Amino acid sequence: MKNKIIIANWKMSLLYQESMDVASAIAQLKGNIPPDVELVICPSYVSLPGVAEILKNTDIKIGAQDLFWEERGAYTGEVSPVDLANFGCSYAIIGHSERRMNLAETNVMVHGKVKIALKNKLAPIICIGENWDERHVGQRDYVLIRELNEILGGIQLQDGDNVVIAYEPIWAISSGKGIFAEPQEVKYVSEVIRQVLIDLYDAHRIESSIRFIYGGSVNKLSIKKYTELPHIAGVLVGNASTKPEEFISLIKNA
Ligand code: PEP
Repeated sequence: MKNKIIIANWKMSLLYQESMDVASAIAQLKGNIPPDVELVICPSYVSLPGVAEILKNTDIKIGAQDLFWEERGAYTGEVSPVDLANFGCSYAIIGHSERRMNLAETNVMVHGKVKIALKNKLAPIICIGENWDERHVGQRDYVLIRELNEILGGIQLQDGDNVVIAYEPIWAISSGKGIFAEPQEVKYVSEVIRQVLIDLYDAHRIESSIRFIYGGSVNKLSIKKYTELPHIAGVLVGNASTKPEEFISLIKNA
């Protein structure tokens, strides 16, 4: 595992041809990605094979934006983790707040998705975070603790498993207004999460299999504030990752 990880979530912001164009621009980066940075691109499902093809001779990894909690069956519209792994994905974003809000995704569903991801050697990028109202009534820590326990409870981790926990405060995501969690708060949250993990796993397992990252309006100017924090392994980037120039500067600044 490299020291730092930058994950690009293209959401549904880029259509097919735009995804190919941005992937081609990123592929040019090759030697300019800092050696300790692991770069993961999460395109839409339909763009995934094309992006994988463009990035095949680079170290850049591919992730899915979601997956289903079964491998096959009568699940209209869903995508199998087996296909995702076979198409070259090594990561999958799971439990993004946009899915929780728009599609009523619950922690129970996220739990099932994390399990099947691990079974298929896909590293789950588990998104957790409080909304503005919860934050204002002082419930941030409670929300995070509950989410983590409900998602990870009962899931055993084995050698070689790779789990990323992304603190994505909902009020900071796609704010478009430069609203983000201050690095000191992210550092504090990383400590809260560590306390929960200590109840679930032994210290060696946490050290070897779990990384903590931040996501929420990160851009080329703010990236360094997060990547230089000791317990933060990296960032999940939405909007800024869809603009090649901005994203390339962000990677270089990491
Ligand atoms: C995200 O969607 O996970 C995200 C962090 O988006 P943005 O960077 O646009 O806030």
